[in-house]
Amino acid sequence: MKTIHRLLNKYSLPGPRYTSYPAAPYFSKRFNEKTWREELETNQNKERGLSLYLHIPFCDTLCYYCGCHMVATRNYARAESYLDLLIKEIDLIAAFISPGRVVRQIHWGGGTPTYLRPDDIRRLSKHITGRFAIAAGAEIGCEVDPRELTEDHIAALKEGGFNRLSLGVQDLDDQVQRSVNRVQPESLVRKVYGWMRKTGFNSINFDLMAGLPHQTVASFSTTLDKIIDMSPDRLAVFNYAHLPDRIKHQKLIQTADLPDFSTRIELQILIHEKLSAAGYADIGLDHFARTGDELFKARQNKTLWRNFQGYTTHKECDIFAFGVSGISQTEEVYAQNLKTLDAYAERIGEGKLATERGLRATLDDKIRRDAIMQIMCGLELDKSDFSKKWQIDFDHYFSDALQELKNLEEDGLVEAPPEKIRVTATGHIFLRNIAMTFDFYLKQAETEKPKFSKTV
Ligand code: SF4
Repeated sequence: MKTIHRLLNKYSLPGPRYTSYPAAPYFSKRFNEKTWREELETNQNKERGLSLYLHIPFCDTLCYYCGCHMVATRNYARAESYLDLLIKEIDLIAAFISPGRVVRQIHWGGGTPTYLRPDDIRRLSKHITGRFAIAAGAEIGCEVDPRELTEDHIAALKEGGFNRLSLGVQDLDDQVQRSVNRVQPESLVRKVYGWMRKTGFNSINFDLMAGLPHQTVASFSTTLDKIIDMSPDRLAVFNYAHLPDRIKHQKLIQTADLPDFSTRIELQILIHEKLSAAGYADIGLDHFARTGDELFKARQNKTLWRNFQGYTTHKECDIFAFGVSGISQTEEVYAQNLKTLDAYAERIGEGKLATERGLRATLDDKIRRDAIMQIMCGLELDKSDFSKKWQIDFDHYFSDALQELKNLEEDGLVEAPPEKIRVTATGHIFLRNIAMTFDFYLKQAETEKPKFSKTV
């Protein structure tokens, strides 16, 4: 126990979450609407599937911890206008896609996708189905907020072909909920969860959050017991990142109410112990799944991958994102949309792509991305296979990283026999730190570094 405390203390450093490499703060405005259009015109690799992401930015109220691109409003007319724009953007992008390409994954995120009224969920789903060829068995997922939700929302999602739902829970403790302005009693969570199961959803994820104000080891232990009792298929337990200088509304959270560092460490240990005892396998960063779940199987088969929605079983897909702040990704580029509603509305209204910034990956970016993703997803890297794949001498190319990894090896986070780099059981908690050793951008001058959340 003493050792893990020491390690958590030592490795709690700012760093990317590696939903992309290079990380989003390194995207540039030199990559713009024109660059993304050129990529769309030449991106005709029919072998690669499509993954669609739709961003619905609206929420009824503001959760004080929120780090998403969202707009709190009770004025539903704003969502109706947005929906028209989203449909226009879908048509704009769909025109570039060659007919043979098939959609293997769709995800609606936010904000709160279920802010949309059930009939608008039906309208948007129908529009997507009309514009793209959707593969049989495609994964179609949606983030769901239990507050303000009706049974008709769940019915509309089912009719729209959704087969995966992710329920925002965070914590079931009343005091914690009130302190972050997200009150949703356990009875409400159970009721909504019951609707989902009754409607036939058999892949349900719960999002939880550790490190929120007033959380204690005892209170979060009680929350975990209740969650385990409900038995979701997957769990994502994120660490709250308190960055009030960057995210202004987080100032509404009193720093004095946040759990201290030692409690945060205890919470990490508690989460891993409780979930593992309840039969959830640690998939990688913050994610847990039952051993029968596809995410777990993908990790075992080395087909797990990571993208802006977290872990995915669809590595061989290009992502096309729609809506404010959405990030598209092909093998060659990342392209992020404008982040404000007004700017997005103006651009789409003019019939133009809504790109604000992005990045074209260099060969070095691709090589390092592969190394980072193998660590984050497969938890090991075979140097010889890697060298062959990229036509490099691994030890020479990554001599800096290997030097840094020696320290991590001494601390028991990785094993590094000559032919492999393997994450140890202890290293699971420090995946971001291990991946950071391969990150070229972090080695740049201190003044150019963006602010990242802490790794643990
Ligand atoms: S519901 Fe989600 S997106 Fe909306 S404010 Fe809360 S955390 Fe942010």
